[in-house]
Amino acid sequence: MTAEDALRWAAAEFGDRLCLTCSWQRQSSVLVHMVSGLGLEVDVIELDTQILFRETYETRDRLAARYGLRLITQPPRLTLAEQAVAEGPNLWETDPNRCCHIRKVEPLERALEPYDAWITGIRREQSPTRAGAQRIEWSERYGVWKIQPLVDWDARRVDAYLRVNEIPVNPLHDAGYPSIGCIPCTRPVREGEDERAGRWAGSDKLECGIHVPLPFVSATKEMKMTQGFTLWFTGLSGAGKSTIADLVGTELEGRGRAVEYLDGDVVRTHLSKGLGFSKEDRDTNIERIGWVASRLTRHGAAVLVSAISPYEETRARARGMVEELGPFVEVFVAASVDACAARDVKGLYAKAFAGEIKEFTGVSDPYEEPVSPELTVRTEDEEPESSARRVVERLEQLGLVEARAAVTA
Ligand code: SF4
Repeated sequence: MTAEDALRWAAAEFGDRLCLTCSWQRQSSVLVHMVSGLGLEVDVIELDTQILFRETYETRDRLAARYGLRLITQPPRLTLAEQAVAEGPNLWETDPNRCCHIRKVEPLERALEPYDAWITGIRREQSPTRAGAQRIEWSERYGVWKIQPLVDWDARRVDAYLRVNEIPVNPLHDAGYPSIGCIPCTRPVREGEDERAGRWAGSDKLECGIHVPLPFVSATKEMKMTQGFTLWFTGLSGAGKSTIADLVGTELEGRGRAVEYLDGDVVRTHLSKGLGFSKEDRDTNIERIGWVASRLTRHGAAVLVSAISPYEETRARARGMVEELGPFVEVFVAASVDACAARDVKGLYAKAFAGEIKEFTGVSDPYEEPVSPELTVRTEDEEPESSARRVVERLEQLGLVEARAAVTA
């Protein structure tokens, strides 16, 4: 099957539920030309991280004008300024995985929602992490077919195609940038270096997370269904985290998964005995939970964490620890302070309101809502069984558990 055959087949099969993502590198130039030449009408999606090179935006504008692209720009939920406030300055230096999640992965997930198939410019030759890519493959993670017409093309063939067809191309390629991403994370490559060596140079990060790194990306469906993961429930005391985690855990155990629960209160009686509720102690507690969760994830467990985990920055650190070894799925269990207080049989909220308990999250200590959780459940609007069902459905969508019967109470 040629690249053109793959595109024709995908257009016939998926119609207007087919899209093409473009990062305005060489492959994007080839694909918009090819799609246009075949007379296919395909939505073109760009993930605008808002921190791309001027030359990249100019290339987009030239291609859009020449080919009359149906261009859809998908921005992150946070501007760079908002991200700096929420996560600290220069997140790409302190936690590039988190930065890519906010600025690329989560926007892509939203962008792909209306589609059944997604054309990408991935080539096997680009890096070892892409060596196993197929021309057409199912993405458990996004729940779409990935169409990769150029998967077996080498760089010389791409260059020749661009030259022969006189297609506009990002000028940075001729300035020593074979692979181009965001400004802070891209440098030119040196003689003999891998094509993607200029991306996140100086770190072991190889991929932004869209085309998930090994071993997760290369896993077969069967492997992914037994891959460990951490499901992190965050929310106020009394929001319903542990109740939902128990329901989800029961369902997962029923599906044959090894489940481990890390409940914030229980952890405090063992792993974090003696810690108080200052910000420093809370952070230490969460980092310990994150570390343990990452180890259990590596060994194939479905790790269900229920912890208030009030600070976004600390949750991001926990995510970073886990994502080195497997997927991290954040679930925001949302409920108002009033609703949580009304459910509180121990009267803790009443004591906090009366000033008898200091540093009580939501009353006298802040709770920072997640910026881009994988899922939000609002427990004032739905029963725990319904929330748990949605969590399991999200895990199915992400390809972490096999789809089958819904959660039962
Ligand atoms: S490539 Fe760098 S700047 Fe861009 S989203 Fe990823 S970490 Fe952030």
